[in-house]
Amino acid sequence: MNSIVVNLMQVRARIELAALAAKREPEEIELLAVSKTFPASAVEEAMHAGQSAFGENYVQEAVEKIEKLAKLRPWLIWHFIGPLQSNKTREVAQHFDWVHSVDRLKIAERLSTQRGEFPELSPLQVCVQINISEENSKSGVSLGEVEELCNAISSLPNLVLRGLMAIPEPSPDPIEQRKAFAAVQACFTKIQITHSTELGYQFFDTLSMGMSDDLESAIDEGSTMVRVGTAIFGKRDKISK
Ligand SMILES: *Cc1c(COP(=O)(O)O)cnc(C)c1O
Repeated sequence: MNSIVVNLMQVRARIELAALAAKREPEEIELLAVSKTFPASAVEEAMHAGQSAFGENYVQEAVEKIEKLAKLRPWLIWHFIGPLQSNKTREVAQHFDWVHSVDRLKIAERLSTQRGEFPELSPLQVCVQINISEENSKSGVSLGEVEELCNAISSLPNLVLRGLMAIPEPSPDPIEQRKAFAAVQACFTKIQITHSTELGYQFFDTLSMGMSDDLESAIDEGSTMVRVGTAIFGKRDKISK
């Protein structure tokens, strides 16, 4: 298996090629390295290869890692991307820079209030998660509800509304996969245009979609942030989630 450094170079090259193929600037697309289930040492290794943004799914595991790497904090930006229950919002508000998985007003309100308890921290950057496959079991709001939730979040004091996030069902059919990305992109652009003059939307610039297996089609459909785990850190152990 390749080292993290080599994997990172390969993923960056994939992003660059995908951007060029889509006639976009490679700098428009940020790489989020998803380090869930991997130790703090793996994060450090990626950091030494120039990576600064890291994504985590499980609050307990993430907080341990973040605290272990506290000295490196000026260079590390932590994004929470997993499902978020209300009893975990305080830890997320205290330790993270971004949350991609906001899908209920109650969660957003708690994050805003709790972020306010740490006046030394800048506002929490948040994305609203869309449930594109419209399955009841999945996290995320439906396309029809996303704008209303964004409007409510845009007026909360300690949050900055940054954009949308989606995890489409993996599909063996690349055309189906693309349709899902395109639907999210259309929704993102519509919200951007509709609210472009509103204060609460001035930083609405992030479309978080695309992972190890589908980052090329996500970039072709307008993604501005790809969340890549396996292609950087290797396969995850199933048992440790
Ligand atoms: C695990 C995870 C990723 C990374 O997936 P890979 O296929 O390993 O690149 C991206 N986004 C979310 C929300 C995840 O939970």
